[in-house]
Amino acid sequence: MKPNVAAARDALSHLEIDDKEVSVRSKSRDFFWYSPVLKERLDHVVGDFVVAPKTEAEVIEVLKTCYAHDVPVTTRGAGTGNYGQAMPLEGGCILHLKNMAAVKEIHPGRVIVEPGCLLKDLDAACIEQSGQEIRMYSSTWATATIGGFIAGGSGGVGSCTWGSLRDLGNIIRLRVVTMEEEPRILEFTGEALARVSHAYGTNGIITEIEMPLAPAYDWVEMFVAYDDFTPAMELAEAVANEDGILIKLATVFEAPIAHAYFQRVKPHVEEGTHMVGLMVAPHSMDGFLTLLARMGGTLIYRSDDNDWERTPGPVFEYGWNHTTLRALKVEPSITYLQVRYGYPQHKELIGKMRAEFSPEVLQHLEVLREQGKVMFAGLSLVKFTTEERLDEIIRMHEEAGAMIFNPHRYTLEEGGRQTVDDRQLAFKREADPKGLLNPGKMIAWDDPNWAFDRMYAYPKMQAAE
Ligand code: FAD
Repeated sequence: MKPNVAAARDALSHLEIDDKEVSVRSKSRDFFWYSPVLKERLDHVVGDFVVAPKTEAEVIEVLKTCYAHDVPVTTRGAGTGNYGQAMPLEGGCILHLKNMAAVKEIHPGRVIVEPGCLLKDLDAACIEQSGQEIRMYSSTWATATIGGFIAGGSGGVGSCTWGSLRDLGNIIRLRVVTMEEEPRILEFTGEALARVSHAYGTNGIITEIEMPLAPAYDWVEMFVAYDDFTPAMELAEAVANEDGILIKLATVFEAPIAHAYFQRVKPHVEEGTHMVGLMVAPHSMDGFLTLLARMGGTLIYRSDDNDWERTPGPVFEYGWNHTTLRALKVEPSITYLQVRYGYPQHKELIGKMRAEFSPEVLQHLEVLREQGKVMFAGLSLVKFTTEERLDEIIRMHEEAGAMIFNPHRYTLEEGGRQTVDDRQLAFKREADPKGLLNPGKMIAWDDPNWAFDRMYAYPKMQAAE
């Protein structure tokens, strides 16, 4: 059926609607432009109107109305995703969750929150009311929502200790609304969480979230400098392997990243400086400094004691995808890869990739804990030349055994493990029978026989003018 956008918009006119051209355009975009490949393909994409429900009942009303008029619905947290996840490829309604931001309950070890709450506000409420903090957050802590993190993110600051969002125990419960003639409200725990977490809102809207908490600390943030890359990488790995030392971040930057792209760090490092960024709990500092003395390395900055004229700001805002952002600001031709350097070959693989590609590809590593093993996620910086070369670099990583989560694709499968997630697909069949939720992002829904031999192009994507 052809969407009747005007009818849906009229029927929802008593809600908070925004259909001003400029703001609809800006709320139709995320950080897709990090990728030159996505920039070229998605730049023109725009929704028809934005609606910002205040309650779950209003979410249900939006979904029911859009269902009746065959209008696609793409959910928006804060629009900080990098893969065009929040972009309405077919236009239609943008469901903006900014008004559903309440922290509802805080208990020992857990919090119940609405999806539109910013990570920083959630963290602040937990710290203030209970002395606890969220276990992990994307480095977009200051701007991103908890709902967008769960539906579109994977892990981040804290993952060196707690693992990724998909690991058991890192999400407790999700409440989800379906897009049917009569939307249903479902509560998911355990295995069922995988149906909707990291599903880009393609099969349900998350309206309430229960997350685990950890004791809050006044983290000591640091930079440690090295003349060589390998000892820098080894410090990051070693501190994560010291079970008695509590950390929240261990990031490795190959030279010349710190000197070339980190303006406030630049006066304190050389071009050849490899650097480690860290967050360590105050009571673990003695242990950490002992380890550092054993392993070498120069502590050039600590947040609780320094004489830097201009402080660098939060160290985590140099890590995860903020590294790419800082590099892009200085050198617009930079783009990036997302690599999994799995245990136990992680260091060997990183060595191989450095030998093959540095300095065209510079290593930026994040310590990641998976099933009790310490390994690395790579958010490598790439000097972009052509799409063909980028594809070749990706292929060579894969051939060497380094798994790539391709950040230059807008579908769940291509940005993931290039396989169909049967749980997400099965739930979409049940919860979104007309295929109206964030269309074009789940290949398995559109074309179950897709071979992944080339980039998927959603056939119903708006044409560029
Ligand atoms: P959005 O971009 O608005 O949405 C993300 C996806 O979730 C979209 O598909 C959207 O439709 C869907 N969605 C949003 N809310 C809901 C809901 N309630 N129900 C159903 N679907 C929903 N990501 C990481 O994982 N770790 C990082 O460390 C990290 N660092 C980043 C650094 C920078 C500088 C940038 C630009 C991005 C980074 N990202 C990172 C990506 C992104 O910022 C995070 O994943 C972020 O948490 C997304 O939150 P958001 O509110 O902006 O979500």
